[in-house]
Amino acid sequence: MNDFLFDLLQDYEAETLYICQDKASGLKAIIAIHDTTLGPATGGIRMWHYPSERDAVSDAVRLARAMTYKWAAAGIDLGGGKCVVIADPNTEKTEALLRRLGQFLQRLNGQFLAGADVGTTIDDMELLAQECSFVVPTREGSGASGPATALGVIEGMRACLQARYASPDLHGRTVAVQGIGSVGRAIVEQLLQAGAVVTIADIDHKSVEQMAATSAVHITTPEEIMKLPVDIYCPCALGAVINNTTVPELQCQIVCGSANNQLAEERHGELLANRDILYAPDYIVNAGGALWSLANRAPGGFNRQHAIDTVAHIYETTTKVIELARQERLSTARAADLLAERRIQAARVRNRIHPGAGELRA
Ligand code: NAD
Repeated sequence: MNDFLFDLLQDYEAETLYICQDKASGLKAIIAIHDTTLGPATGGIRMWHYPSERDAVSDAVRLARAMTYKWAAAGIDLGGGKCVVIADPNTEKTEALLRRLGQFLQRLNGQFLAGADVGTTIDDMELLAQECSFVVPTREGSGASGPATALGVIEGMRACLQARYASPDLHGRTVAVQGIGSVGRAIVEQLLQAGAVVTIADIDHKSVEQMAATSAVHITTPEEIMKLPVDIYCPCALGAVINNTTVPELQCQIVCGSANNQLAEERHGELLANRDILYAPDYIVNAGGALWSLANRAPGGFNRQHAIDTVAHIYETTTKVIELARQERLSTARAADLLAERRIQAARVRNRIHPGAGELRA
């Protein structure tokens, strides 16, 4: 286990791991702090019935690194972190467990700022906030993040359309949305408002039928959705949907969706570029919910218009990534990483010249 832990931290260049347990409430939590060069580690709390502790620790570190890149590329002075709770959110999430987690987070004294993620909700955040002053989302302020994540993905789509067709207009564009959960559903609504032609698929047939009954959408199967000859394929369900099997099957011009970790491996970004399919890097276009929640911590409290403007800036960030990819002859996936790495590197140099600047910002 020792080799595993330090190898993992070294492989991902992560700073710190906190392991928390409380027998009475059944709490088993891991908090991974990946990189605090830009500011305090900030990320969601994921609750999941992991098959093993090793899987949970790996997931925490991997997701913490993704947050480092997400904040850095978005131009936000925050570091990457993630909290993973080993529990089934449907059967094991209790008030006692959440309160105990809140107490542990409070002890970190702001090293980790927490938000919601898979398996946790805005209600859970309200409860945690009773024990801990470092919880970002609030019901009265930002509320749930799904619609804001959707807005960011739409802005990413518009930037991709501009790059591909010299117009950001969604009107008449064909879009295939895979997964109509909280984000996918909001994307479909915004696409229809913008005049796009939308096809949907979900493994939950009921929600597909419900949506089709009230909205002018086309329906296909989960197997076919990514093979449609559309302008935009929008993955909003699972990760690793871009893989050896699917890359040759895609018939879209653009891939732009909310799902995390869409590329099964880094090299699949190159494969998409080789096929001249424009890929909007997932962590660039799905940052809307995180940016929206963060607006709760703005001086003076949550300001809706300011939060919308911040999320809408995803258009500019996506454009910057596409341009960097063109200039440096890289895939957009690699260009996004480079954008984030350059920002972190510049801050490292700045922090060396002005030691303590990071702490002051935090
Ligand atoms: P969700 O659980 O509400 O929705 C996911 C939907 O995908 C469900 O309806 C599910 O039935 C469907 N699905 C699962 N497997 C499928 C398959 N094989 N084919 C078609 N549909 C399938 O999740 P969400 O909050 O809407 O998030 C969607 C994705 O976006 C996730 O990958 C999530 O990590 C990512 N994301 C979400 C947010 C957010 O603010 N909620 C922010 C950033 C990234």
